Amino acid sequence: MKVFFIGTSACIPGKGEETASFLINEHILVDTGWCNVLKMKEYGFAPEKLNYLILTHLHQDHYIGLPQLLFYLGMRKADGIHSPQWPLTVIGPSEKLEYILKKTEEFLQVERFQELSLQLQPYVLIPGKIYEDENIRLETMSAKHVSGADQPEAALVCKLTDKHSSGTVCFTGDTSYHPPIADFAKGVPILIHDSCHTSADDAAATAKAAGVDRLFLIHHPVSANAEKLREAQAVFPASFLAEAGKSIEI
Ligand SMILES: [Zn+2]
Ligand SMILES: [Zn+2]
Repeated sequence: MKVFFIGTSACIPGKGEETASFLINEHILVDTGWCNVLKMKEYGFAPEKLNYLILTHLHQDHYIGLPQLLFYLGMRKADGIHSPQWPLTVIGPSEKLEYILKKTEEFLQVERFQELSLQLQPYVLIPGKIYEDENIRLETMSAKHVSGADQPEAALVCKLTDKHSSGTVCFTGDTSYHPPIADFAKGVPILIHDSCHTSADDAAATAKAAGVDRLFLIHHPVSANAEKLREAQAVFPASFLAEAGKSIEI
């Protein structure tokens, strides 16, 4: 399994940066960042190979690149260039997923430009449930995350296996410190943990309790890199920064 970090930064990316999002085995995208299509092309990937989009939760910084992605895929489809695995399965943690996909299609005027229609397959995956088909198995638990008004936000912590390659990866999406993640991540080699809503040392404590081989910190401001790494390694030496433009092999 190969995980490629397209972006690693906080909610609003700085110049040349992209918000936390990554590509698994070139066909599973986790969150869209702000401008993933352009970033994927810059890094030599073909967005039309995607057949799964997993939205860890429905905060804007995790789906704001959706119109660009769907427009790009629609244009490629109209050109006759598309993945044999389409339609694209879009997985997210609440009914808001269907609302956002519908609004995005309206924004793209798909009704007027039918050639852009992708026949998306939304799949609402309530945190704690499992999605499984012939390609992937996605186990989930609930993250500990809130919205602006301090309301709990449906948000997925995920354990993903791509059945066509060996390896499983666990990623938290946005979460405050949430010790049950350690149990959930037991037996998984790699944990990719939010280090924006959780302090780096608490993320490291979770990784240590889970017994993972390596921890990757993601979603904090890039300017905090050195400090975050130092804090995490003090608790769990096998802590690393997720680095945009780089991949990890599992
Ligand atoms: Zn976020
Ligand atoms: Zn969030």
